[in-house]
Amino acid sequence: MSTVTPMMAQYLDIKAQYPDALLFYRMGDFYEMFFEDAVNAAEALDIALTKRGKHDGNDIPMCGVPVHSAEGYLLTLIRKGFRVAVGEQLESPAEAKKRGSKSVVKRDVVRLVTPGTITEDSLLEARRHNFLTAYCELRDEAAIAWADISTGAFHVMPIARVRVSPELARLAPSELLVPDGPCLDQLRPIADDHQIPLTPLAKSSFDSTAAEKRVCELFKVSTLEAFGTFSRAEISAMGAVIDYLEITQKGKLPLLQPPVQEAEDRVVQIDAATRRNLELTRSLSGGRTGSLLSVVDRTVTPAGARLLEQRLSSPSRNLDVIQTRLAALDFAVEQTQLSSDLRAALRKTPDLDRALSRLALERGGPRDLAAVRNTLIQAEAISDLCSGQNMPPLLHEAVTALTGFDALLPLLDAALIAEPPLLARDGGFIAEGYDSELDEARTLRDEGRSVIAALQKKYSDHTGITSLKIKHNNVLGYFIETTATHAEKMLSAPLSETYIHRQTTANQVRFTTVELSEIETRILNAGNLALEIEKRLYTRLSDAILAEAGALNGAARGLAELDLVTALADLARGENWQRPTVDNSRAFDITGGRHPVVEQALRQQGGNAFVANDCGLTANDGAAAVWLLTGPNMAGKSTFLRQNALIALLAQMGSYVPADKAHIGLISQLFSRVGASDDLARGRSTFMVEMVETAAILNQADDRALVILDEIGRGTATYDGLSIAWATLEHLHEVNRARALFATHYHELTQLAGKLAGVENATVSVKEWEGEVIFLHEVKKGAADRSYGVQVAQLAGLPASVVARARDVLDMLEEGSRSGGGKIQIDDLPLFAAAPAPQPRPAAGPSPVEELLSEIHPDDLSPREALEALYRLKEAI
Ligand code: ADP
Repeated sequence: MSTVTPMMAQYLDIKAQYPDALLFYRMGDFYEMFFEDAVNAAEALDIALTKRGKHDGNDIPMCGVPVHSAEGYLLTLIRKGFRVAVGEQLESPAEAKKRGSKSVVKRDVVRLVTPGTITEDSLLEARRHNFLTAYCELRDEAAIAWADISTGAFHVMPIARVRVSPELARLAPSELLVPDGPCLDQLRPIADDHQIPLTPLAKSSFDSTAAEKRVCELFKVSTLEAFGTFSRAEISAMGAVIDYLEITQKGKLPLLQPPVQEAEDRVVQIDAATRRNLELTRSLSGGRTGSLLSVVDRTVTPAGARLLEQRLSSPSRNLDVIQTRLAALDFAVEQTQLSSDLRAALRKTPDLDRALSRLALERGGPRDLAAVRNTLIQAEAISDLCSGQNMPPLLHEAVTALTGFDALLPLLDAALIAEPPLLARDGGFIAEGYDSELDEARTLRDEGRSVIAALQKKYSDHTGITSLKIKHNNVLGYFIETTATHAEKMLSAPLSETYIHRQTTANQVRFTTVELSEIETRILNAGNLALEIEKRLYTRLSDAILAEAGALNGAARGLAELDLVTALADLARGENWQRPTVDNSRAFDITGGRHPVVEQALRQQGGNAFVANDCGLTANDGAAAVWLLTGPNMAGKSTFLRQNALIALLAQMGSYVPADKAHIGLISQLFSRVGASDDLARGRSTFMVEMVETAAILNQADDRALVILDEIGRGTATYDGLSIAWATLEHLHEVNRARALFATHYHELTQLAGKLAGVENATVSVKEWEGEVIFLHEVKKGAADRSYGVQVAQLAGLPASVVARARDVLDMLEEGSRSGGGKIQIDDLPLFAAAPAPQPRPAAGPSPVEELLSEIHPDDLSPREALEALYRLKEAI
């Protein structure tokens, strides 16, 4: 005998269909969770765990969240890696009762909320896309498809196995779908590495025949050829995305745009490590702050910001594309006034893409309708601003996409109030004068009494009975009342045809009319009716919008493009960036280049200005061009390396660059091995990480690659490190023939410049003053004479005695290697304790410098303060 209540039976039945998700089970104004779900959710949300009834003799753990604030809880759960099945009541308790006194209200899951399928503004980051990706392998083909259901973007491309990790790093999706089985095991480490939630799907979701049918049905075409020629793997991946959307949205499909097929060689290949090291869209600490993106982002709309992130993550390899973008930017830079007018208008445009996708998923509200209207108003203003301008093709196309809404805009404009409420169910968003039926309903609702008063006047005029009244009671509702003396008149023809007798009391006779009872019903129902009409109008407006979804998406793209171009122009003007020359050569010639992030940081600190530097890596036919960069730590080597990589990327995304002049021959791949960080999570030492990354570069870089290598071999013993660095440099020069910047502290390598034709020495200069080092941050041709390691250590606040001792050891070592004596023995050095203390200089009295010096406590100084102290000291001589 089961003791399960009907409600619990229903719960268990639904839950069994969603074992991997938390079930939000709607009960009145709450979503409730039971059993394990309740325990997990209560912990994740930090809410009270209670109990409700018993199951198999045990208490049932329970927790709940109010429906009106459910979004916030959903966000927390999604962020913490949960998936949530939202189970709603599909009928009212009254309807359930009609079916039988013991019936439980019908419930079912209406939506499965997962990280890759959210559309609510409150759950999404406005300035980032939210990609759902699917990866699939079929025999020896592989493909990846991705969609952003909050904007409708849908892409697919074939992919080589080795490119999966870099492409996932580029896309940074919120969720990755893979077929259950061996593929899942292969992808798990990569997904973990990039912290992408992995969702295994049944193999049937990836079945390519079913997939093709699904894609064709969604886009209402008979064959996929309309969109391009796709491999089976590509079709499967696309099919899986659509199938998953059907599963999670319970059949309500979002407004996906037709798939855009991307070629793997369309964009600069950047591996995951390089992307991380260069801090393109995220800084090493994980946030947006400190990244290149944060410094270059001057967009004024979320869609513009998303486009910028996309461009920055995927700089182009196609010269035509780059030239087209640069031509648009030239125009925007020149047309200062027009650009700033456009930006002012763009600032007022809402997020059209996301409003559209909510409307398509029936998750929208009046504000989404208004968002479309407001966008179209601005679109009109923008296209007026641009009319008569001789614009370059990219901008012309963008502005053209903003027109053609001659029917939709007036419709929305007439129908909606200025600032509608969030929810359609409360009504009050349709403007007065738009729909006469609605106006009447509202008039009745709001002014019921005066309508009745008007009617009373009409009846008394009609009957000639001035004392006639319309009254209301709970039994009869509205009725017309006259005294018994007048009643006779109304009871006889012709008035009796209009006035229907209802009741006679001692002194009064009561009547009604068809009109009055109609009005009464209408007054009573006016509120509901008004709501209903508004809902109907809402659907009609939403349908009108969705009928133009394709054109609206085009307009949204146009606005995003305009935002991006004018934002880049603003940046170029404000930061004095210059137009790069990009061509098919193998040039790499930068004059006065800067690192935008370091430059901004220095400016904010109010210290020294950034020192601009040149870089000339132009390679001859088929040859390599390598700069071997030496110089002490802290001189600015890494900064120089990175700034040149960033300048190349900015140029190829179609932006001006932080340099006085830049000539860049197309770069196809960008590799970096910068800095050293232990990857302890994967059990790899610094050295191992460094070697894995170096191997990837040496195995993959071609003669169109740009390679930056910082301190190769640092993670191991001196001679091992030197040998590895040496061999790496030779390989880059002889085999990869890339353009490369190679920073090293092994001065021995500088000899290679004489032996390898494409290798030149360069150094970041420093000045030595009274045994200490001053950084000039200037990159010059030639080799550094020494490493200044001891001086830098002193700057960092190493105790004076240790610095002095280090100097002695260094002198001995250098003496040893000069005299050809090979390794010197530890015993050759006097013991630490015997090291002579620094001798004070004989002087008549303390000089200003000495006075300053006596105030300095090296142990308390940060490197920055030490540097400032140095400058003060220098001023004092
Ligand atoms: P290295 O790689 O040689 O150890 P970094 O590139 O890390 O040195 O630079 C150290 C610091 O020097 C940076 O944090 C920055 O503040 C400053 N710096 C680097 N390059 C410049 C420059 N060109 N102009 C001004 N300051 C610079």
